[in-house]
Amino acid sequence: MSFNPDAEGFLERPRRGLLCYVLTTGKCNLRCDYCGGSFPNHLVPSNVKYTIRDLQDFLSGVDELVIAFYGGEPLLNPSWIVKVMEKIDAKHFVIQTNGTLIDRLPRDYWLQMDVVLLSIDGVEEVTDKHRGRGVYGKVVEAARRLREMGYEGDLIARMTLTESNDVYRDVVHLLSLSLFDHVHWQLNAVWNPNMKRFVPWLFNYYAPELRRLIDLWISKLLEGEVLGVAPFKALSYAIIRGLNLGAPPCGAGWGALAVNTNGEVLACPIAVDASWARLGDIKTSTFVDLLEKVRIGFPCTSCDYGALCGGRCLYAYHERLWGDEGFKVLCRITKVLIDQLYDNKPKMEKAIKEGSVSLEALDYPPFLNTIEVIP
Ligand code: SF4
Ligand code: SF4
Repeated sequence: MSFNPDAEGFLERPRRGLLCYVLTTGKCNLRCDYCGGSFPNHLVPSNVKYTIRDLQDFLSGVDELVIAFYGGEPLLNPSWIVKVMEKIDAKHFVIQTNGTLIDRLPRDYWLQMDVVLLSIDGVEEVTDKHRGRGVYGKVVEAARRLREMGYEGDLIARMTLTESNDVYRDVVHLLSLSLFDHVHWQLNAVWNPNMKRFVPWLFNYYAPELRRLIDLWISKLLEGEVLGVAPFKALSYAIIRGLNLGAPPCGAGWGALAVNTNGEVLACPIAVDASWARLGDIKTSTFVDLLEKVRIGFPCTSCDYGALCGGRCLYAYHERLWGDEGFKVLCRITKVLIDQLYDNKPKMEKAIKEGSVSLEALDYPPFLNTIEVIP
């Protein structure tokens, strides 16, 4: 099977929303070991250096605007979040937070968020090992409190997967809490300095547990339940419909841009020190003008998995922190995921045909909501 976007039958997924990440600060109150905490102030200042008027002008002409608050830890600068929510006419608001400071934003603003992503890596032992002691408890408590205050939007558990994880155990655990609508994960690849240790884990431990998780997801589908495993939903919907998810599927560069606190516009919110990602300045350009300036190219443009993988990640594609060899390793693991889901296409179609689940129930994300789709 070819999933090349040029292959016959692949449809362009209609663009749903344009996503603007707003970095509210470069500071973070945690020091997770895969990230290291705050950005240096010269790369991402702790305070915003442009005005709300600058942001309004920059975003003029954007239809179906999605604003995602990002950091550092965005809740270290709640007044900027409040100001943006009051002054910018967005269709959707999203926040990615470590979940330890939710008291800093008043309830009314939480209730206006369409998507809240809380960082949590799975069971307590794994989360606390990498994010700090007591973090798991705080994040679960934050999820509970959001629900108690009446938050009914999409609550996503956002995991960073390291060699400490068992993807089956940890995703099932997070879903079992009955707090999160969706779980999504990103592999701690490329930033991980220890490629030699990570790669054997990827194929010897992650891949078999991933297959087990897909088997569970399919069996639940046949019983009429769609587990909120974000990458499975997004990819399965695209497989069934023959859709091209975009390159990359997170939208970076073509549907999503980021505004740094210093006013720089970036193709990807984490690429704060990468010259290829610097597209312009909020004061001298508009969002729409800066789209499509940085693209994913070869080999992804001629790859058989291109319509679904889309190059996976614009940052990893350009930075190649693990070199070409490491890039190909990640291609291999992405293909494991896509192949395993594709092999289950007849079962998915059976579940839909027999009415156990509807095709629409798999349609995720409903707009560019910051999930990467490809782990
Ligand atoms: S990242 Fe690898 S698998 Fe994905 S489209 Fe590019 S070449 Fe293909
Ligand atoms: S998936 Fe990659 S390109 Fe997309 S937002 Fe994340 S780091 Fe940036």
